[in-house]
Amino acid sequence: MSSSRFSPALQASDLNDFIAPSQDCIVSLNKNSAASRLPIKKKQVVVSTKPPEESVKISLKDCLACSGCITSAETVMLEKQSLDDFVTRINSGKTVIVSVSPQSRASLAAFFGLSQSQVFRKLTALFKSMGVKAVYDTSSSRDLALIEACNEFISRYKLSQLSSDKEVGTSLPVLSSACPGWICYAEKTLGSYILPYISSVKSPQQVIGAAIKHHMVEKLGLKPYDVYHVTVMPCYDKKLEAVRGDFVFSVEEKEVTEVDSVLTTGEVLDLIQSKSVDFKTMEESPLDRLLTNVDDGGHLYGVSGGSGGYAETIFRYAARALFNREIEGPLDFKILRNSDFREVTLEVEGRPVLKFALCYGFRNLQNIVRKVKMGKCEYQFIEVMACPSGCLNGGGQIKPAKGQSPKDLIQQLEGVYMQDVSVSNPFDNPIAKRLYDDWLVQPGSDNAKRYLHTQYHPVVKSVTSQLQNW
Ligand code: SF4
Ligand code: SF4
Repeated sequence: MSSSRFSPALQASDLNDFIAPSQDCIVSLNKNSAASRLPIKKKQVVVSTKPPEESVKISLKDCLACSGCITSAETVMLEKQSLDDFVTRINSGKTVIVSVSPQSRASLAAFFGLSQSQVFRKLTALFKSMGVKAVYDTSSSRDLALIEACNEFISRYKLSQLSSDKEVGTSLPVLSSACPGWICYAEKTLGSYILPYISSVKSPQQVIGAAIKHHMVEKLGLKPYDVYHVTVMPCYDKKLEAVRGDFVFSVEEKEVTEVDSVLTTGEVLDLIQSKSVDFKTMEESPLDRLLTNVDDGGHLYGVSGGSGGYAETIFRYAARALFNREIEGPLDFKILRNSDFREVTLEVEGRPVLKFALCYGFRNLQNIVRKVKMGKCEYQFIEVMACPSGCLNGGGQIKPAKGQSPKDLIQQLEGVYMQDVSVSNPFDNPIAKRLYDDWLVQPGSDNAKRYLHTQYHPVVKSVTSQLQNW
């Protein structure tokens, strides 16, 4: 199976370049058991889709932990996080919670000719008819991630203003961290020089996972291991993110994962179509407000920006916090080499004081990384996304209709994305306020760092896989 479903950056880091036929699996070697060694040849994957306690030989998490991979991680993952697996798990006696991304809602809305709000209510009805307990919205966790990212940027900016080189270090630029395609590429291909620049804030997917498994379960009177949490996302890369070891913890000696499974938008469309229901005319359910950006009048709200609005939100916040400037109206992003590489500048008394960039797609990403490496990056913050045009164009989104060009589809999605969603400031989000009051205390607190931030790890390739790339 090719890795073409992943983002361009992830394909560049090439999961399959870790395939080295006829070696022993490192997972088994680590277990020190000769009997459990798995000689695996290319494409001959030994994977069980049964629950872990039964007979899984290799999990995707293990695969990502290994620098000498000998099998196709994508194949492992697709079996482990498939629609079939989801349907099986839904009847396993666990409390199932689904968190839907706004990009996925927009893709389904464009496909069915509905609004985001209609799609969300119908999806809620569909999932609940299958036994799902609650359906939430990752716009709420994105607001939490944005608040943490604003706070982190101010701290790192202030650090960069110190005089000693040692203190300034790698404080700027801050490179955004919400895109797992970019993170995987940075860890596997770029390595240790770039990782300190990457924001430590978890992505919205992992933030909602942490909120549900570390905090909300208590409110619901459940144990974290009794909840099966599924997200609906615009790309396959999010499946890889969900299984990172950093997002697994243990409770009462049981392994708990913040996000148990990820379905792409396309897989949810398959689910809808498999149900033989007329989604367009299907009854709608009220939304679950606990972790959904919906106001008292039933209107959705969130930040604009199909890739999370990181650069825009932090730019406005930093302009106010650092330079006492309130920016009204849309930001004036200037297109540079192409529409996927744009910058915005704040000038104070004729002098540029803030310079941020959006950098989408592998080609632009490589350019920016080169500049960071040479110490010639003029930006303080860069919103890095692996997919050209960003998350609305993720590899897991519904493909263009017959006769529709990808460009037309993106334009349509951009229109649908904020059509019935009011633009709001994350700092005004009552859900975020409540989570800080009840759980996290304040942005950048010890609790916030513990639950909403993460770390990155350079992956050293095995000699064999390096030789293969010669
Ligand atoms: S990726 Fe590494 S750990 Fe996973 S199956 Fe391959 S060799 Fe084993
Ligand atoms: S840009 Fe967005 S859709 Fe594409 S890989 Fe990154 S997170 Fe996924």
